[in-house]
Amino acid sequence: MIDSVAPFAKRAALISVVVACMMTSASNAAAGAAQQEDWCKRLTVRLPGITAAACQNSALMPTGAVSLKGFPILARRIPAAKNGRDDSKPIRVLLLGGIHGDELTAAAIVFRWLQFMQAPAAQQFEWNVVPVVNPDGLLSPRPKRVNANGVDLNRNFPTPGWQQDAPRYWVKATHSDPRRFPGKAALSEPETRWLNEEMDRFQPQVIISVHAPFGILDFDGPAPAPTRFGRLLFNGVGVYPGSLGNYSGRHKNIPVITIELPNALAMPPDAEVQRIWQDMLTWIRRNVPKQDMAMNKRPVSAAR
Ligand SMILES: [Zn+2]
Repeated sequence: MIDSVAPFAKRAALISVVVACMMTSASNAAAGAAQQEDWCKRLTVRLPGITAAACQNSALMPTGAVSLKGFPILARRIPAAKNGRDDSKPIRVLLLGGIHGDELTAAAIVFRWLQFMQAPAAQQFEWNVVPVVNPDGLLSPRPKRVNANGVDLNRNFPTPGWQQDAPRYWVKATHSDPRRFPGKAALSEPETRWLNEEMDRFQPQVIISVHAPFGILDFDGPAPAPTRFGRLLFNGVGVYPGSLGNYSGRHKNIPVITIELPNALAMPPDAEVQRIWQDMLTWIRRNVPKQDMAMNKRPVSAAR
């Protein structure tokens, strides 16, 4: 009798632990979903044509990094589909939106493109997608270009000579325009520090950064510049101390395509959203060299 009670009590205790664990993980999942809903509600108030449901379906996850005001930087990593015959690594693409908070379409179009990721054309690449790099600028009562510290994040990357060039350029060329303040030091902001570290972790082979409203394409780095995506034509707008294009494209030799949509508040028509996307995928496939897995494994001395 005693012998049979002890195992029963043990089993009951074990079951209650398992049930408690299940309840904890279920309540964690519920809390995660509620948080996701809250982030999406706040973001999509600002994003033309993006519903809160579409944002929630986009499967963005918190990266662990937060903006100055504590809003999470959300991202989605999407591995490439397996291709048994192809003995090369998929091209890694870093896709960024909303580094300037008042360019609402630049974040919204990245949410639209996240809906196209299941198509085979997208699945040939490995993606790291960050639709809103500057959440504080976007969520400010009146959306603003700069972050909560008043820093233009796209002037805060550590290009060589930043400490002398960036402040001088700001004073002389922009007449100390507060919308273009580069910060007190390169990488002074949590958003740029995180992005810089993320580039080191992910090792992108091409970076796409979406802006508005100049209606052109710009390009920095080692590859032929794109001539046309949809209706957007290539037109180099210049090189700035501390910009992402200058830092990654010219200094780190990772090509950076800057897409400038024609309007910061109104989305392009759906057909144009798709054409820009398709032309971009074609350009990446033709112009970003793949890495051969066998080549990578070979010791340096054997490589020519
Ligand atoms: Zn911009």
